[in-house]
Amino acid sequence: MKRVFITGGSRGIGRACVEYFAKQGDRVVFVYRNDDFAAETVSESCGALAIKADLSVAEEAVRAVRDAVEHLGGIDVLVNNAGISQIKLFTDISDEDWQRMISTNLSGAFFVTREAVKPMISAKQGRIINIGSMWGKCGASCEVHYSAAKAALSGMTKALAKEVGPSGITVNCVEPGVIATDMNSELDSETMSQLCDETPLGRVGKPSDVAKLVGFLASDDADFITGQIIGVDGGFAI
Ligand code: NDP
Repeated sequence: MKRVFITGGSRGIGRACVEYFAKQGDRVVFVYRNDDFAAETVSESCGALAIKADLSVAEEAVRAVRDAVEHLGGIDVLVNNAGISQIKLFTDISDEDWQRMISTNLSGAFFVTREAVKPMISAKQGRIINIGSMWGKCGASCEVHYSAAKAALSGMTKALAKEVGPSGITVNCVEPGVIATDMNSELDSETMSQLCDETPLGRVGKPSDVAKLVGFLASDDADFITGQIIGVDGGFAI
């Protein structure tokens, strides 16, 4: 039984990860920011503890990790999944847009990981799985700030993997393609069908497609895999 801490677990990919680990009997704590009803629903159905925190704020991220460590007695698996997206022309991205994107999608993962890795180092074991995006690798037009934050997450993954490998901790990054979640609800049906056409496997992904890879990376079978950036995108980013 693992002790698992997942950010952004109230919806979409994070929720699928909470369900995956809960189903295999692991103890799960997850963080959400706004949606109390969604968080309660997941919490009740999975028996997971929900913590409300804005992870883009360092103090809130630290508090969330400390509460999780207290509840679980440690953390074996950290999944940095919480994130936001925004579609805007590059020249329309305001300072606030840029700051909000970087502080949520990159700094949030930094604040959480810096705190969560301490007990992992003491325990000389741990798994850190960052949820990046294929756009961090390919770059998305009209999502420059999102792509930049996700590319940085991939760099953070590789550097941290080298630093904490000697402490028995693996760090990997999963880069999803187009996954059917609220994040893509702004996209019209024509855009979604175009994205399907551009995906060699001819469909958009399900949150569970991502959760299965995350589950594998957290499993004993993945204990020699670290510093890797692994796509789950139906071949989109080949
Ligand atoms: P959703 O929008 O469905 O869910 C986002 C989750 O993150 C929610 O639980 C939300 O909580 C939480 N969250 C957002 N900001 C914060 C914050 N500041 N502090 C704490 N929690 C926060 O997203 P997806 O499931 O689609 O995406 C999950 C991850 O996967 C993201 O990092 C995203 O970039 C990445 N990804 C998604 C793809 C897709 O096609 N869907 C493709 C590639 C990558 P609340 O609802 O309470 O605000």
